[in-house]
Amino acid sequence: MQFKDFGLENKLMSTVEHLGFTAPTEIQQQAIPAAMQGHDLIASSKTGSGKTLAFIIPALQRLSKNRALSKRDPRVVILTPTRELAKQVFSQLRLFTSNTQFKAVLILGGENFNDQVKVLEKEPHFIVATPGRLADHLTQGHFYLNGLELLILDEADRMLDLGFAKELSQINKAADHRKRQTLLFSATLEHAQVNDFAKELLKKPKRIAIGGAFTEHKDINKRFYLADNLNHKESLLKYILSNETYQQVIIFTATRSDTERLANMLISEDLNAVALSGELNQGQRNQIMESFSKGQNKILVTTDLASRGLDLVNVSMVINFDMPKHAEEFIHRIGRTGRAGSKGDAIAFVGPKDWLSFKNVEGLLEQTIKFDQVDGLKAKFKGLKPKVIKTKIDSTKAKKETKKQVPKKKKAPKKVFHAAKDVGDMPVIKRKKTLSAEQLENSDLDEVE
Ligand code: ADP
Ligand code: MG
Repeated sequence: MQFKDFGLENKLMSTVEHLGFTAPTEIQQQAIPAAMQGHDLIASSKTGSGKTLAFIIPALQRLSKNRALSKRDPRVVILTPTRELAKQVFSQLRLFTSNTQFKAVLILGGENFNDQVKVLEKEPHFIVATPGRLADHLTQGHFYLNGLELLILDEADRMLDLGFAKELSQINKAADHRKRQTLLFSATLEHAQVNDFAKELLKKPKRIAIGGAFTEHKDINKRFYLADNLNHKESLLKYILSNETYQQVIIFTATRSDTERLANMLISEDLNAVALSGELNQGQRNQIMESFSKGQNKILVTTDLASRGLDLVNVSMVINFDMPKHAEEFIHRIGRTGRAGSKGDAIAFVGPKDWLSFKNVEGLLEQTIKFDQVDGLKAKFKGLKPKVIKTKIDSTKAKKETKKQVPKKKKAPKKVFHAAKDVGDMPVIKRKKTLSAEQLENSDLDEVE
């Protein structure tokens, strides 16, 4: 199948050709015609399989073919969970709109509010945005959505995870009319939360799933290493970075503060590393992404802020220095490599604190994972079995109790809980109602304690 078989409008078709795309990917083959027929979609396919064009192309086709419902209101709104991803989607969209009469604008948190008011006054046809800031402008009446034809949610599940349900509902309600079409895209759309939300937002949606969300990504070679502690992880990291070949690497850590610390450690080893986290201001974030995407840095140390959607062609290796708290972020993190048919390596370190997350990932991938080893850096840690932990604690408790004779009040259950916490860092999402939209947009995985 070829793009020309879709019957795209001439100008759009010539842009597709001009950009060098000939054969649509599987998700594009299915999602483009379905969206062109006007269906609402819940569409998933693996990372790096071309979902962005699967929504940009039908959006442009619709705008070229249909008359606008309103002269002033935006016709298409595309929402993404992070500013970095919104920028990337915007620049892809611009490739398609720059030779048309359609105006596209980018509305992000962390940037000047009044400048955005002026931009919105120019009545753009397309808005690419992060949900918090867009909802703020909507609340203040800086634009209306009565004429909205297409609402597109890229990485929809992540926006819900981050607590944007309220903003998304508000945007949905402001554009509540029969002619509106809604498209949800992600590599992972199998949450119950997404289904509930889809009921609110979509009308008789068509489901398109290319492969199961967690089926093996053949272009990504996964390796797992056991690690005893932080020092051990650092030694493994140094070993891998100095003994393996790679173009660019993304390293994921659990918290914002770790990004900086680890990047500094790598810099002191003469490695060209830079840290990106939600702690930085937007100017710094932009600068870091720009220099990394230009190849000026070889290694980006970051959090789940960068786990979703980013398409950086030279990233040939992803390292999970810490396992992600949410298992599906593993799929997205490793999906920063092995994109559009290229190959990539995905490495993960699994220490005692990562164990529960690791087991969740193993469950999600539906496979038993074997560990690799580096000679001279073998881990003593062999993993934890829940039953063994409990038995061990129980016997320790028994010993102590016999020794002391007068047992302290109910100490044992506390110990069991404490051990479980050490093993796995059970995620507790605390942000949902407490943070403002602006804070939400500044988010990475520090939501988890
Ligand atoms: P996803 O959203 O599924 O993770 P992207 O939309 O970011 O994937 O696309 C990944 C890469 O594939 C991008 O660099 C994009 O330009 C490229 N790509 C998209 N569609 C095609 C196609 N039909 N043929 C070749 N490359 C494509
Ligand atoms: Mg994408």
